[in-house]
Amino acid sequence: MIIGVPKEIKNLENRVAMTPAGVEALVGRGHTVLVEENAGIGSGLDNKRYIDAGARMVNAVEAWGAQMVIKVKEPVPAEYQYLRNDLLLFTYLHLAAERRLTEALLAAGTTAIAYETVQTDNGQLPLLTPMSEVAGRMATQVGAHYLERHQGGRGMLLGGVPGVSPATVVVLGGGVVGTNAAKIAMGMGARVIIMDLSHSRLQYLDDVFQGRMTTMSSNEANIRTYLKEADLLIGAVLIPGAKAPNLVTRDMLAFMKDGAVIVDVAVDQGGCVETIKATTHANPTYVVDGVVHYGVANMPGAVPHTSTFALVNQTVPYALKLAEHGFAALSQDHVLARGLNCHQGKLTYDGVGKAFGMEV
Ligand code: NAD
Repeated sequence: MIIGVPKEIKNLENRVAMTPAGVEALVGRGHTVLVEENAGIGSGLDNKRYIDAGARMVNAVEAWGAQMVIKVKEPVPAEYQYLRNDLLLFTYLHLAAERRLTEALLAAGTTAIAYETVQTDNGQLPLLTPMSEVAGRMATQVGAHYLERHQGGRGMLLGGVPGVSPATVVVLGGGVVGTNAAKIAMGMGARVIIMDLSHSRLQYLDDVFQGRMTTMSSNEANIRTYLKEADLLIGAVLIPGAKAPNLVTRDMLAFMKDGAVIVDVAVDQGGCVETIKATTHANPTYVVDGVVHYGVANMPGAVPHTSTFALVNQTVPYALKLAEHGFAALSQDHVLARGLNCHQGKLTYDGVGKAFGMEV
């Protein structure tokens, strides 16, 4: 198969959908990989590395002309011109939040497989997990940064020093993001409280971390109690396919310390803090009632060297199946088949249909 890897053109997006190692794996199975010139530069991967791995460097039109196009972000309007009915598109799509793109894919008849809806039998999202791991670890790192006085925070070192208390980090949601955030916070010496609705998840965290962090049931009373103590609050809840629940309402900010920091990673699903709004890496924070708010919706984009490799490690096995068997790969792999969102002008994913009142 001929596989195209266009350069990402979304604002401030520096990830790329294929690494030289991924190219080598595909070329080794007899496929042709067309990589757009400079597609990897933002992730520290120059053209020569792709050429050495067996790719051909091309322009955007040629990359998009391939039988299968592999990307990171959903096509932006300037890319809709490349959509066609014999194209297999494999990328993050988040269509429930992108009506215009959904209509463009359906009008073109493109077969679109969304990374974020590829799902295992036990409900895990293997192509979303690597980005949650990155965002979770980053949440503590940026939280520590914004706790510094000249960044607007209360001027507190996360780990404290001998004789001085460490900061208290409260994590709402103990899934992939929350666990990774908590792990880094503990590593930096902070006091960590993690809350989840799922008792089995709290049991798991208690077992694995052997009581080094406090696990708490997530309910309004506990949230109110620990908000008062939080120097850094990390929002990491998810109800799959739904808007995040509002766990921290505006009136609760009054209980928080002046200069405390909120990093609401769940902002891409609307956020679990009432006062959070989506921000960008160019201007990531703002202050409400003395509390610093960080609401960047594409946190992994800030660390493309790490994110590109983390993503491609997980996508390549599926890309190999698609390259080998084309659309028929979906009938052989039901985990991958759950990723199908659009095919031959029809919507094939329930969540997107529900979001737009469209037939599936
Ligand atoms: P996950 O499914 O692994 O974990 C979510 C956890 O939230 C689950 O353990 C669930 O039990 C818990 N939860 C649900 N309702 C709760 C409640 N009321 N109180 C406490 N816990 C509750 O999901 P994840 O991969 O950790 O993702 C979390 C969020 O982060 C998602 O919205 C995801 O899209 C987002 N995310 C954002 C970025 C970014 O750049 N901002 C990057 C990656 C992921």
